[in-house]
Amino acid sequence: MEVPLLVDDFLRRAVQVYPDKTAVVDGDLRLSYRDLQRRVNQLSNALLGLGLVAGDRVCILSPNSHFFLESFYATSQIGVVLVPLNYRLGPSEHEYILNHAGVRAVLVDWEYTGVVDEIRSNLASVEHWIIASETGEAHEGWCDWNALLAETACSPPPDPGVCENDVVSINYTSGTTARPKGVMLTHRNCYLNAYNMIAHLGIRHEDVELWTLPMFHCNGWGGVYALTGMGGTHVVLRNVEAGQIFGLIERESVTFACMAPAVLRTILDYNGRDEHVITSRPRFAVAGAPPPAAFIERLEQELGWRFVQIYGLTETAPLLTVAHPDHNTEAKDYARRSRAGVPGIGVELAVLDDEGQPVAMDGQSVGEICARSNVVFKGYYEQPDQTEAAIVDGWFHTGDLAVWDETRCIDIVDRKKDVIISGGENISSPEIEDMLYRHAAVLECAVIGVPDEKWGETPMALIVLRSGRLPSEQDIIDFCRERLAHFKCPTRVAFVRELPRTATGKLKKFRLREQFWQGEQRRVK
Ligand code: AMP
Repeated sequence: MEVPLLVDDFLRRAVQVYPDKTAVVDGDLRLSYRDLQRRVNQLSNALLGLGLVAGDRVCILSPNSHFFLESFYATSQIGVVLVPLNYRLGPSEHEYILNHAGVRAVLVDWEYTGVVDEIRSNLASVEHWIIASETGEAHEGWCDWNALLAETACSPPPDPGVCENDVVSINYTSGTTARPKGVMLTHRNCYLNAYNMIAHLGIRHEDVELWTLPMFHCNGWGGVYALTGMGGTHVVLRNVEAGQIFGLIERESVTFACMAPAVLRTILDYNGRDEHVITSRPRFAVAGAPPPAAFIERLEQELGWRFVQIYGLTETAPLLTVAHPDHNTEAKDYARRSRAGVPGIGVELAVLDDEGQPVAMDGQSVGEICARSNVVFKGYYEQPDQTEAAIVDGWFHTGDLAVWDETRCIDIVDRKKDVIISGGENISSPEIEDMLYRHAAVLECAVIGVPDEKWGETPMALIVLRSGRLPSEQDIIDFCRERLAHFKCPTRVAFVRELPRTATGKLKKFRLREQFWQGEQRRVK
């Protein structure tokens, strides 16, 4: 009989092999793997007690915390699907996702209950409201997580008979459409991604991972499963702040962290670093955007720490490629190491032109990266047309444009999809344009990504005004900030006479972008 690949194996193994080892450090709280499993079982039993059944959706809205980590295993081991929410979104964006996913219970950090209370009356499917807080302070309308656990058995819950192709999480991404899409990841996707992380990033039981990456972001790039499987220690960080990062790396002898280039910059620019004695030589995996070669050089030369770049998407659970110094690369060839890298095990990649033919492996011919692998997602939740558009003949089309060479090393140079990546967060241009069109003065608009010193890219709005209307740039920015998550709002605005269009009326965004990217080797940052 085949044994299914289920992510719960990771925690089960860690508890059997390393019961007394520290699993999680969260502020002053330390939980062993035995403690973690007890809390996970209690939450599973509590959710079952509330009437949840396999296939139901439960969301978590929280910064990184031990609660967040517990929610992964407590839901999956009873077949419940976890919907992690991006805490940077605003109430109306949460409302859309919670309703679209038909969530029955919400697990919310104390800091975010106010956001959920604002939309509570519009959330018809939600029946249970659970608040995560260390203090246990009462909040009207909320049931305390720890109090719920105190009343519940810590024995393992009954086996729900989950299959490996069942969905374990729905991760909403801001993609090419005005509304976020729900990426359905299966146990099999996440299991195999975790194996790839272990193999390619060399995750070991001695590893102590600092959570600089939000856990909501594609299961923390799979780190939740990979590190747990190996019995490593999770050091969770609520707010990403350089002083705290250095303090925790020193105190906990951190060996590994995964982050967006914007966080790496904060670390490199921190001027209090000489106050810390760090002997663990952590290795940093950077994802989300190509980091400048200078960042890699500074990390390795100034700090003596190690760097590896990875590339992937929520839709691929996420790891597709890894750029490692061992891959035919001199360690000091920083420019090459800032490329996305070579395919991971079990990942077949193609770089295809507009006719669907592979482009030459000459490091110059540009095409779209397509992937075939067991890490490719099951589909977009309740959006079969979007799924069909994304997976064609078994190949997932990433929307990323790249060149590759004869070693199959991928360098991402542009994006086919209308997405801006700012500080590691995806922003859909159509979503911002949609909002701008609600402004009375806007006749036509286009939102593009332009290079930004701090965030890599930042959204810029190009606007044709209605005659007689004269808003200021700040008026436009404020209008967006009142209605959209702040990270999505344009930081630059330009009023133009007209927008360039093709004969069929399609916006020529590449023309608009070109002027802002002159002198840059790539059209992504
Ligand atoms: P998400 O689904 O939010 O993880 O975003 C996936 C997108 O992030 C990809 O389609 C790429 O455009 C971008 N991305 C991720 N990793 C890298 C990388 N190493 N280099 C360049 N772009 C990246």
